Amino acid sequence: MADEWVFPKGELMRGKRGLVMGVANERSIAWGIAQQLAAQGAELAFTYQGEALEKRVRPLIEGIGADTMLECDVTDDGQLDAAFATLERKWGKLDFLVHSIAFAEKSELKGSFVENTTRENFLRAMDVSAFSFVAAGKRAAKLMDAGGAMVTLTYLGAERVLPSYNTMGVAKAALEACTRYMARDLGPEGKRVNAISAGPMKTLAMAGISGGRGLLSTGREWSVMKEDTSMEGIAGCALWLLSDLGRSTTGEVIHVDAGFHIVGVPSTGDANE
Ligand code: NAD
Repeated sequence: MADEWVFPKGELMRGKRGLVMGVANERSIAWGIAQQLAAQGAELAFTYQGEALEKRVRPLIEGIGADTMLECDVTDDGQLDAAFATLERKWGKLDFLVHSIAFAEKSELKGSFVENTTRENFLRAMDVSAFSFVAAGKRAAKLMDAGGAMVTLTYLGAERVLPSYNTMGVAKAALEACTRYMARDLGPEGKRVNAISAGPMKTLAMAGISGGRGLLSTGREWSVMKEDTSMEGIAGCALWLLSDLGRSTTGEVIHVDAGFHIVGVPSTGDANE
């Protein structure tokens, strides 16, 4: 659990200001990343989706000394424009962006992809889970000097077929391609764009996937490290990519999943294997 970890304090992000999109509660991956960035001296602003989430997120962010919360449903260009305009007025410039947002109808995150996928959900999942990174990244880039960095969150379902992941896997494949094209366009300006492919974590988004528990237990059993993916590991990777340590890395999809993605067939544990 993210709130059980004490992230090591340091100065890696001192003087940097960034926007974190996608905190819903204390289990959110965006929240784990935010805590790590704050522990390294970053100044943070947050977006939230709708009033109900504002009530949950405000006490969290106040706990790390942040006070800027901007309402932003990423399907609404007006809200995106308003959020970035407020940041521009407040800070003038931005150093980094964390995009940790996805959505697909729960009813379609199960069973047959071919049978269950509707045009409406397909387009919505693409809009919220892939295009929103382009939409937010475009606005963020306008506020960044050379050295700016962006990170999004993806999952192995973009590369491989996983049970129930269905439309979300297709949207994540698009998100990873968006990451590379954004990196190409923004690279000459010295801005970096990367994705973290995280192993399964117990969050609200994971709860929406039928059989999500199976993804968690298989993730642990099949991973080469034989352990769950840690929030600390995901947040540490984000810190590397968003700080100057990640200086020459762009257009990458970095797996943080205890080595699950390299396994073709899991070991049985037999010594003669
Ligand atoms: P989460 O539910 O805590 O976060 C998802 C966020 O998306 C929420 O804050 C929600 O408000 C936001 N969101 C959804 N629709 C939105 C909209 N229209 N406008 C603005 N915000 C919207 O779950 P999480 O697991 O922390 O998910 C964060 C990211 O990490 C997602 O992209 C998810 O696919 C990815 N990811 C999760 C896992 C996992 O196992 N939990 C693994 C790999 C990648």
